[in-house]
Amino acid sequence: MLRTLSSDHARCGLGARRRSWAAVGLATLLLCGAAAGPSRADMFTPSVKDQIKLGNQAAQQVLHQYRVVHDERAAEVERMGRRLLDALPRKDREQWEWHFYLIQSKEINAFALPGGNTFFFTGLYDRLKTEDELAAVMGHEMTHVRKEHWAHMAAAAQKREAGLAVILGLTHAAPVWRSAAGIVDSMLNLRYSRKDEDQADAGGLQDMVDAGYNPQGMLDLFHVLQESAGGGGGPAFLQDHPLTSTRIQHARQRIADMDSRDFRPQIPLPGA
Ligand SMILES: [Zn+2]
Repeated sequence: MLRTLSSDHARCGLGARRRSWAAVGLATLLLCGAAAGPSRADMFTPSVKDQIKLGNQAAQQVLHQYRVVHDERAAEVERMGRRLLDALPRKDREQWEWHFYLIQSKEINAFALPGGNTFFFTGLYDRLKTEDELAAVMGHEMTHVRKEHWAHMAAAAQKREAGLAVILGLTHAAPVWRSAAGIVDSMLNLRYSRKDEDQADAGGLQDMVDAGYNPQGMLDLFHVLQESAGGGGGPAFLQDHPLTSTRIQHARQRIADMDSRDFRPQIPLPGA
């Protein structure tokens, strides 16, 4: 999440330039008191309610910036999201405000905002061959939401600010705007730790299997992304999610460790 930690942190979601709006919107909401919601683990962590509020605000800006697609592919994205949701524990299904969008962009990318708004780019969708590959992306992104990765990173950033104030011998904790500035910075470079990315892979893999998909779809997704990386720059999803050998190895191992090997064949996407 912090730009200075690039070697240890993977990026998730939109490119930094396109994320700047999210920073502004999220910071504004924090400053306007969204952080005063109930049910948080500590004073630094945005509550579920905060995350939904902030995420919805940011989603409005995404929807303003991009064209939402309403076609058979979009219906498939929606259907896939709902199917994954159906297999989740009730709490994960109900406490977030899930929305699934397909947006028109050649970028090979997908991302989820805190709270449940999940966006798929046509550039990624059109490269996928099976529902199972689609489910792998969706499961990964939805796990970031369910595990509240953004909220935990925001809390850690705020704690660092407050801790610094103590170290420097300041008599008062960091003022709210300082804390909010930390959130701005983190949202500008929405980077999750490798640990969070690994957890998103693990959660996504489990979720897709629970929903009846073939986990091979995740390995095939990695292959598709690797193939797409041939052209200049590589896909945005890979820039945000470096496809390390460890990541692939972990997915292989998790599939090998699964109790059942009896997965039905992957289902081709309509028109793929
Ligand atoms: Zn991720």
